[in-house]
Amino acid sequence: MHELSIALSIIDIACEESHSRGDAGVIAVHLKIGRMSGVVIEALLSAFEIAREETLLANAELKIEDVLVKVRCPKCECEQLADSIQCLCCSVCGTLSPEITEGCELEVVAMELEPLELTQ
Ligand SMILES: [Zn+2]
Repeated sequence: MHELSIALSIIDIACEESHSRGDAGVIAVHLKIGRMSGVVIEALLSAFEIAREETLLANAELKIEDVLVKVRCPKCECEQLADSIQCLCCSVCGTLSPEITEGCELEVVAMELEPLELTQ
């Protein structure tokens, strides 16, 4: 699966951010992962555990927000939860929607860094 390469790019992003702040250790990385992103959260967590060793993220935790799929329903004229990821129908009225508004994301939304000790 591609979860290992995703874990590696999360580590890359986080290390870069940490470098720009004086190599602070990373406590946690917050992610948003949509149900349509194709990422298996369990697999990503285990890939991350292996990949983080000997990096600034050795003790970091992944905090994942599992984003449900939403569609813009033409009948309700607003955003609604989809029935399922197989059926992109409005969960309220059942109309098939041509437009997914949420649930495809795979992004780093925030990071928690260890405070740096002040040096002269
Ligand atoms: Zn609807």
